[in-house]
Amino acid sequence: MEKIKSICAFYNLTKNSLKNKRTLVLYLDGLGYYLYKYAYKKNALNFTSAHFDIFPQWSLKNAVTNPNMAAMISGKNSEYTGIYSRKDHILNVATIFDEGYDQVILEGDTIILNTTQRPILHVKSKVKTVDFGVFSDTLKAIEEGKYFIFSHFNEIDDYCHTYGPYSEEVLGQIKKTDCYIEKICKNFSGNILLVSDHGVHTQLNEKNEQFGIHGNVFVEEYESFEEIDPDLPDKIQSTKNAEDKKMYLEDHLSLYGYLKNENRN
Ligand SMILES: [Zn+2]
Repeated sequence: MEKIKSICAFYNLTKNSLKNKRTLVLYLDGLGYYLYKYAYKKNALNFTSAHFDIFPQWSLKNAVTNPNMAAMISGKNSEYTGIYSRKDHILNVATIFDEGYDQVILEGDTIILNTTQRPILHVKSKVKTVDFGVFSDTLKAIEEGKYFIFSHFNEIDDYCHTYGPYSEEVLGQIKKTDCYIEKICKNFSGNILLVSDHGVHTQLNEKNEQFGIHGNVFVEEYESFEEIDPDLPDKIQSTKNAEDKKMYLEDHLSLYGYLKNENRN
């Protein structure tokens, strides 16, 4: 499968996959590339790291969900989609869901974008947890034979906001998600793509407790990077504004990947 640099290009990966095979997209909100690497070292992603090829990709300038989700499903940046921030929901462009496949969109507890195909929502009061609801309905959609399944898992991001991205609580949630992914992979035959929309960085509140935040750090000289160097955070440690740069990268390097060992185009 071709290598991509930006979240906009994820649209083409999905599109090409759908031309050839039944396709399932696992969208893990808030799992940035650095959090992925950290979780991998902590053995929280044993199944996913062993069975998927995972790569970094650049998220859009505003590293929050709405514009980046719009980019991954349309192939376009905010200028075209009209989705710049969390406040924007009305897309100006067609999306991958307009291509007429027998499909289902599984979403958390709110509608993020007004796609022509309405998502199935999972409201906290009605399911064990929101992500468990998405997981269960993914298995159901597999069973029903849906050709295109798009499953948006939100809780890693929620835990990152509450406890900070490098907390035990987040590792626990990532482990849980790894188990969901394993079960899903064992039940599905076809292409499985993995994607995240942005990462999260740590901040401290007035009581000196960690929490997580993203989309509020801009480092001008980093906006025009052409190449992605996965070891960049280690290299910038001694440079000017290293702390800002690190936070910027934690937010803006998201990831994509695909299940290995399949016959692909
Ligand atoms: Zn978030």
